[in-house]
Amino acid sequence: MKLYEEVKDALTIGISGHIRPDGDCVGSVMGLYLYLKKVCPDAKVQVLLEKPADIFSCIKDIDEIHTDFVTDVEKFDVFFALDTSKERLGEGEKYFDGAGKRINIDHHVSNSGCGDLNHIVPGASSTSELIYDLIEDKSDLDEDIARALYIGIIHDTGVFQYSNTAASTLKAAAELISYGLDFSRLIEETFYEKTYIQNQILGRALLESILFMNGKCVVSMLDKKTMNFYRAEPHDLDGIVSQLKNTKGVECAIFMYQTDVMEYKVSLRSNGQVDVAKVAEFFGGGGHVRAAGATMRGTFHDIVNNLSSRIAVQIKTE
Ligand code: 5GP
Ligand code: MN
Repeated sequence: MKLYEEVKDALTIGISGHIRPDGDCVGSVMGLYLYLKKVCPDAKVQVLLEKPADIFSCIKDIDEIHTDFVTDVEKFDVFFALDTSKERLGEGEKYFDGAGKRINIDHHVSNSGCGDLNHIVPGASSTSELIYDLIEDKSDLDEDIARALYIGIIHDTGVFQYSNTAASTLKAAAELISYGLDFSRLIEETFYEKTYIQNQILGRALLESILFMNGKCVVSMLDKKTMNFYRAEPHDLDGIVSQLKNTKGVECAIFMYQTDVMEYKVSLRSNGQVDVAKVAEFFGGGGHVRAAGATMRGTFHDIVNNLSSRIAVQIKTE
């Protein structure tokens, strides 16, 4: 796809990403936004996205996001859905559906493409790396675009640790830091640093975790009462499932938090043997081979039983 060719005649351009936006979603959306504002100075470019976490306030113009999804544009000439298929755009979906040209850019294996134009690369580290690749003329990059895209890449690769990190990812990162990024501070402040509440709730989730399937799986759950006790919000729970996955001997980690009566947001992580995207897709969710999620209904025990049966099939056939 030739990105600039697709937008150069547009007068209105909208960009959105998935609900509960993570680092890659925020980084790719803002990287594209800053780039389009620069190369399409006559166009009205808008981002419609749920409010990103405070850690992302270092990204330029992040406060220009229409977090209430209110806009004076009735029909966008071009609308981008990044890091997701349209089902998880939330309130952004109606603008995507109504746009003149719909463009979907993503790296989720569970996304088969929902736009008039699709750039879906399941093996890619992050949507941010895809945006970097799509910027044909690298002289259009600047420190602000680089910061947004770099943050996206470090979040989806676990700071270049996960197996989705490729030589191309490191090459992109190398060029991005050459714009003078204070990368060590960005990594510390957006990825590793935790608030006191986040550490407390992480500790609670680890304390209450349960090993099962002969130590190959671990699960932990936080109900609404516990989250209220610690005054924790959903974004305070990021990273809990990764820590569970680090348990020695564990192939598959499950973390879930209650979103409603008999409803949980489930996160799955794999150390390689289990394709958790398949497990999540079975229950209406999606994601990547080693990191996926779904919203599931039932009691905690029903959900663990249902997930275990899908995980067991994969562990046994190995
Ligand atoms: P997390 O566990 O961090 O919420 O998500 C892990 C990965 O799975 C992310 O790439 C995320 O976009 C994807 N994912 C999480 N929940 C869902 C879901 O309900 N539906 C789909 N399609 N993908 C999900
Ligand atoms: Mn992503």
